[in-house]
Amino acid sequence: MNAVIPIQQAGGCTDAPVLMERGQREVFCGLTGIIWLHRKMQDAFFLVVGSRTCAHLIQSAAGVMIFAEPRFATAILDERDLAGLADAQDELDRVVKRLLERRPDIRLLFLVGSCPSEVIKLDLSRAAARLSQEFMPQVRVLNYSGSGIETTFTQGEDACLAALVPVLPISTQRLEPELLIVGALADVVEDQFSRLFTAMGGQRFAFFPSRSSTALPAVGPQTRFLLAQPFLGDTAKALESRGATRVAAPFPLGAEGSAAWMQAAGAAMGVPAEVVEQAIAPARQRAEAALAAHRVSLAGKSIFFFPDSQLEVPLARFLARELGMQLTEVGSPYLHRQHLAEELAWLPAGTQLSEGQDVEKQLDRCRAAAPDMVVCGLGLANPLEAEGFTTKWSIELVFTPIQGFEQAGDLAGLFTRPLTRRTLLAA
Ligand code: SF4
Repeated sequence: MNAVIPIQQAGGCTDAPVLMERGQREVFCGLTGIIWLHRKMQDAFFLVVGSRTCAHLIQSAAGVMIFAEPRFATAILDERDLAGLADAQDELDRVVKRLLERRPDIRLLFLVGSCPSEVIKLDLSRAAARLSQEFMPQVRVLNYSGSGIETTFTQGEDACLAALVPVLPISTQRLEPELLIVGALADVVEDQFSRLFTAMGGQRFAFFPSRSSTALPAVGPQTRFLLAQPFLGDTAKALESRGATRVAAPFPLGAEGSAAWMQAAGAAMGVPAEVVEQAIAPARQRAEAALAAHRVSLAGKSIFFFPDSQLEVPLARFLARELGMQLTEVGSPYLHRQHLAEELAWLPAGTQLSEGQDVEKQLDRCRAAAPDMVVCGLGLANPLEAEGFTTKWSIELVFTPIQGFEQAGDLAGLFTRPLTRRTLLAA
């Protein structure tokens, strides 16, 4: 089938040099992941063990939950805990018992570590093991760290899923999933993918994380897994240690990325490439038509990525190849060369790649490049807007459903809108 969108021929960035930076960073911490994870895992509860700052971050970032019974909270470490004057483990036990009495709907409880809990070396794995023993089988208690020390905000999801992998059932029967889609996806995206897999004849597939903690997919040496998100390095490692094998593919962003990802899924389930092509053709055509409209506004415009979400490389590939944007710098907090191999091969040759951050130096490079658009965290967006740059908040790209064919147009729209707004303001 011929693509409607002209795909830019790229020499690739497989072996391109990467500017490595280690300096001051402007990123959110891993607690942010709770905001999308608690929506996905519908019987889980996230108890952050942290300070008032942590509570404030979660509360303001997920303020919409104010009308519902929330599925996250913060056990606040006060000065006595921080000074080591109180037994924080005893206090944590009391808080968890009170919580579970009040909320019998909870089946999976995550104790989420933070910078303060790490600084005082509060052993949450010991607490999780002790509490699990007490409350199993009704409630399983696990722990992971969402601390902002040395991590970026999408690593919260990675740490959470990696903590879940050891409790996935052992795959024993031939009917269990042979393909695991890994990474939290909006329900609407998951449903679309399920329909396409079914249309191509795939049956033994499952999503991880699952919506219910009582229906966790089994994993074993026959499991092949396909990442839906590029920031799941630890989760992939944990699955591999259970015997599963990663299926290499670009990420499902845009028509081209989604098609290649679907082909990889089909191949992993033993579906012939022509059958996959047939099953995805109508959705792919819709995506390509939707992108054509945005290409008019975006082609030739330059874009600069500050490192934030780890989605930068797949996004840059999509914007360059399917929408004709010019990449000035593509920064990522961490470049996982293996998981991004197919993406790097698709990036236009000569793209400036950077890993890590030294924010002042990067701001200088951004000002010198004077791009038409900057993708960055919230902390940088306002000052850059004040300097006359058009910005896109990278966190919005994590909160919004952007994967798959039906979302390709919406994803492009996230980049068209700030440019249109700037034009209107200028007029
Ligand atoms: S975990 Fe660390 S970075 Fe995140 S809100 Fe708490 S103190 Fe701040």
